Amino acid sequence: MSLFEMSDRAKKYRADLLEFMDSHIYPAEAVYHEQMRASGDPHFHPPILEELKAEARRRGLWNLFHPHPEWGPGLTNLEYAPLAEIMGRSHIASEACNCNAPDTGNMEVLTLFGSDEHKEKYLKPLLDGTMASAFAMTEPRVASSDATNIELRMERDGDEYVLNGRKWFASNAMHKNCKVLIVMGKTDPTAAPHRQQSMMVVPIDAPGVTVLRNLPVFGYADREGHAEIIFEDVRVPAKDLLKGEGEGFAISQARLGPGRIHHCMRAIGAAERALELMCRRAQSRVTFGSPVAERSNIQDWIAEARIDIEMIRLLTLKAAYLMDTVGNKEARTEIAAIKVAAPNIALKIVDRAIQVHGGAGVTDDFPLAMMYAGLRTLRLADGPDEVHKRAIAKQELRQYRDAATAAVS
Ligand SMILES: Cc1cc2nc3c(=O)[nH]c(=O)nc-3n(C[C@H](O)[C@H](O)[C@H](O)COP(=O)(O)OP(=O)(O)OC[C@H]3O[C@@H](n4cnc5c(N)ncnc54)[C@H](O)[C@@H]3O)c2cc1C
Repeated sequence: MSLFEMSDRAKKYRADLLEFMDSHIYPAEAVYHEQMRASGDPHFHPPILEELKAEARRRGLWNLFHPHPEWGPGLTNLEYAPLAEIMGRSHIASEACNCNAPDTGNMEVLTLFGSDEHKEKYLKPLLDGTMASAFAMTEPRVASSDATNIELRMERDGDEYVLNGRKWFASNAMHKNCKVLIVMGKTDPTAAPHRQQSMMVVPIDAPGVTVLRNLPVFGYADREGHAEIIFEDVRVPAKDLLKGEGEGFAISQARLGPGRIHHCMRAIGAAERALELMCRRAQSRVTFGSPVAERSNIQDWIAEARIDIEMIRLLTLKAAYLMDTVGNKEARTEIAAIKVAAPNIALKIVDRAIQVHGGAGVTDDFPLAMMYAGLRTLRLADGPDEVHKRAIAKQELRQYRDAATAAVS
């Protein structure tokens, strides 16, 4: 498929999804907030979400992310990109279509590396949207952007591993349907640095697992939560090891490629919505005799937003195209580049949209403040900007290393 032309099935999904957003998702946003407020529980699971899920499923707008035809519609990354972007326009759309992180990444891991038992017990209910899951890699005691630092111990004892350690920022662990964790830990501290880590499937209610607290993000207690979790002598059957001992890094690379680009696609959707809100607001507010939209600095922001969105969309599509054609590994530089560019640019646009809204921009009457908090965390989640830039710079410098050595000698 060309980079510039959508396939027929992507066009059909896009049209259906746009219709679903207009007829169901946007009107449900206020209902969602009202149900959350009335519950008094930040981790409440509002009934409107289940209604939306049923409707999305009925319309075939379900598990659109899943690349394996056995388990989903089997869209390519390039076909999925415009759909994820549309879902990114509303914070409830991805979950309504069963396309929300971190469940999507965990479903891909279970598809690729899970046993038949894992597929039956966890993958199927996750694909059905009746179960949620979390991914636990980051630890409070070590700098986790370098995953070789991970300390949670997984010690073999007969047919089991015994887990001891502490994780935090396990997103989704406070979700009412969260039943399972994919945990990264150290099985062999004496192995080569990238072979020490393994991943295991751990039920969240296993004896010794304690969900200690939720971590608020800029004061927001996100519904799905970001949990700090303690593991004390947690016994996990050896058969729940994914892929094999020492394969933790390889699995996280497989998991994070698609996960990262999906975040970027949704960030573009958020930026589009912020631009739309900025234009509407600027035209409706009058100061000193003329609409705010007629001021040249505001027009400058609007024009820059359009230019920036087009640029990050093209880079996202290029990364998606490379993932489809030469694989995630070969596309790693483009994935890293868009993982830096998309959240930063979307943040700038949301920030300007907030400014154009005046005080209203920072309230909950508009989705902008929540978007800002969500996008700001994206500069950290799935790897901070600096770590991705490091990878890009290393790749760039590699091209000239031999020439530099030759020049010196
Ligand atoms: C909202 C949210 C959700 C998250 N969800 C999950 C989740 O579901 N599961 C999970 O396991 N983790 C999750 N995380 C954690 C996230 O992946 C980590 O915060 C991130 O990888 C950074 O690790 P750290 O916090 O330990 O920072 P550190 O490793 O301590 O790094 C701190 C800072 O040092 C700087 N830095 C690091 N390396 C370099 C370098 N080479 N050059 C220059 N500067 C550098 C960066 O600015 C970085 O932000 C989430 C985080 C947030 C905020």
